[in-house]
Amino acid sequence: MGAARRLATSQAGMIDVHTHAIDPDLADVSARFPGVYPTVQRTSEDTAQIWLDGRMYREIDSRCWSAADRVRDMDAEGVAMQVVSPIPVTLSHSEPADGAAALAEAQNNFLAKLVEDAPGRLAAFGCVPLQSPRRAIAELARCIEDLGFVGVEIGTRVGDRELSDPEFLPFFQAAGELGATVFIHPVDRTLDTRLAKLRLTFGMGMPTETAIAAAGLLVAGVLSAAPNVRICLAHAGGALPSVLPRVAFGQRIVEGVTVDEYMATRQARKLWSDSLTYDINSLRLALTRYGEDHVVLGTDYPFTAMETPAGAVLADVLSQLGRSTHDAIARGNALSLFPDPA
Ligand SMILES: [Zn+2]
Repeated sequence: MGAARRLATSQAGMIDVHTHAIDPDLADVSARFPGVYPTVQRTSEDTAQIWLDGRMYREIDSRCWSAADRVRDMDAEGVAMQVVSPIPVTLSHSEPADGAAALAEAQNNFLAKLVEDAPGRLAAFGCVPLQSPRRAIAELARCIEDLGFVGVEIGTRVGDRELSDPEFLPFFQAAGELGATVFIHPVDRTLDTRLAKLRLTFGMGMPTETAIAAAGLLVAGVLSAAPNVRICLAHAGGALPSVLPRVAFGQRIVEGVTVDEYMATRQARKLWSDSLTYDINSLRLALTRYGEDHVVLGTDYPFTAMETPAGAVLADVLSQLGRSTHDAIARGNALSLFPDPA
């Protein structure tokens, strides 16, 4: 059952691995568990608002929950398949585990239904309560084995803890064993408040946050300790492609690392990223760092940050880098990132 629902698409077209969805009737976890969790309030048949901690967080519309609306947009832009993932603010890694686990379970059940509503057109990254690695592994296994998801989405930090903390290693190892992709996406609420004052949350906060989390995984050797895990970074890894040589130089001069295999530049070849840079030069650098076979199309559909139309940057890829690189990013690499289980 799971295998058939993972990523079986016979339809030609692009595969967009970075899109978001949410249940317009999401259960109010705050009513049952301590902690601060997002809620959704319907404002009409086609619109709703996400609320968090007494404030309106984002206006959303039916593209967030209607498979038919999504397929209509996909058909208009040549997208064969979307991978849907939770809206990052709902990941709730900083809250108590009981509420985060309940919210993850509810979201995953919704995403499974959404995928079922558009057979062959949607796949899903689920949600896990990463603050409890044991429960995160259990929900991860449910996502892959019972719900047929292609992986899970996680944030860039877990409260005060880093993804490179050894307590999260079993989670990454379990993902590798289950054949699950781990999609790492920054959460705007966890960023330094300085960035909001500078009006740089989107432009600088999210890319540096992703780069710090990913570089932390690289220098800690997590990708050697969990060799089978496939980690895909949102937004092309943010600032990571630009800073990688400096990170590696720092390993050499500060920590005395001399083995090439341990260098962040080498470890980064094991990472995957999406293509969401809005710019061919930034995308070229991502291709250089991760490899031309490790970058997949991502758009951030259906939010204002989304690339419009889907794969807009691919026109420059085609003219500058050629058809095979274009086709690999648009579709082929995603088929390798999400191989059918044996
Ligand atoms: Zn996103």
